Amino acid sequence: MQFARIENVIDIPAIQTKVVTIVGAGGSAPLIENLTRSGVQHWKLIDPDMIENVNISRQGHSPADIGIEKVEAVANKIRAINPGATVECYPIDFTSLSDDEIREVFGDTDLFIFATDSFAAQSRGNEVALLLNTSATWIGLYAGGLGGEVVFWHPELECCFQCLCSGRYKAQAKAKNENRSLDPPSDGATIFDIQLLDSIAGHLCLGLLTRGSDNRFGKLIDQLGDRQFIQVSISPDFLVNDNDVIRKHLGIDENCLSYFAWNAIALSDPDQGNEYCPDCEKYRGIKFLPPFLGATSFLRGRTDQSHVDQTVEST
Ligand SMILES: [Zn+2]
Repeated sequence: MQFARIENVIDIPAIQTKVVTIVGAGGSAPLIENLTRSGVQHWKLIDPDMIENVNISRQGHSPADIGIEKVEAVANKIRAINPGATVECYPIDFTSLSDDEIREVFGDTDLFIFATDSFAAQSRGNEVALLLNTSATWIGLYAGGLGGEVVFWHPELECCFQCLCSGRYKAQAKAKNENRSLDPPSDGATIFDIQLLDSIAGHLCLGLLTRGSDNRFGKLIDQLGDRQFIQVSISPDFLVNDNDVIRKHLGIDENCLSYFAWNAIALSDPDQGNEYCPDCEKYRGIKFLPPFLGATSFLRGRTDQSHVDQTVEST
C-alpha cells in the first residue's frame, strides 16, 4: 500500500506492526476497512454470525456475501485493500472463551475493539483487556440510533470500563435477575448513525495504536487524558432521561440557535473511583476501600456525569 497522503499524521511504520482484534464484524465492517486503509495490517476477527439479507441495508456487506460468515466477508475486504495483510477469522461467540484460550489465541493483541451492543460481550471485553493489560475501545449505539458512545482504556488509565459504567453494571445485574434485557434494540439505527460513531472510534483507534508519535494521532490519547467516555448526539431528539445532556455539558443556553445535533462530549469517571470495581480487584489487584478511609489513591477532575450510567436503563 501507498500511504504518502496520510503518513504525516499517522505513524505508518508503527501501526503496521500492531495486531488488532475486533469483536463484531457486522456494522463495524467499514471501520475495519478504513483502519486497513490507515495502515492496520494484522487482524483477528471474531463474530459467530452469517450475513443475512437484512444486514445489507446497514453493514457494509453485499448481497453476494449473503450466507457466508461475516468474518470471512470482512477478511476478503481487508485483503482486497491490502493483499499483504494477515487476517485470522474466528466465527465463534467471544464470551465462550476461557481466560486461558484468550491468552493463547489473542495474547499478542495490541488493541481490542468491541463493536457490539451486547453487554455480555462488552463486560467480558473489559475482563479480557485487564487480563492481558491491553488497550481497548468499546463502541455502542443507543436505542434507535439517536445517540451513542465510544469508551476507551489503556493500561495507564486508572478507570476500566466497569469503573466508568458502574451504574450500568448494577442496572444490568438487576435486569438479569428479573429476566429482562437492557441491550438496546438496534432497529432504527442506520449505517450513517453507525458510521458517525465509527469515525470517532477510528480516531481513537489510530491514537491508541500510534500513541506517542509526534503527529496529530500520536498526541490524541494524551490530549484526552482520563476523558475516556465519549458521548455523541446523532439526532436532535437525543435525550437521556428527558435531559439534553450534551447541551448541558457544553454549557449551551436554550437561546443558542446554532446548536442542533452531531455533538460529542468527552467525560471522565462519573464516580471518581468511589465505586468498588470487581474487575480491577480481580485482574489488577486494586483493592477497594471506601473513600472516607482515604483509600482512593488517585485524583481525577470531578464533573457531574450522573447521566452516563442512566443511559442504558433509560433505553
Ligand atoms: Zn475497574
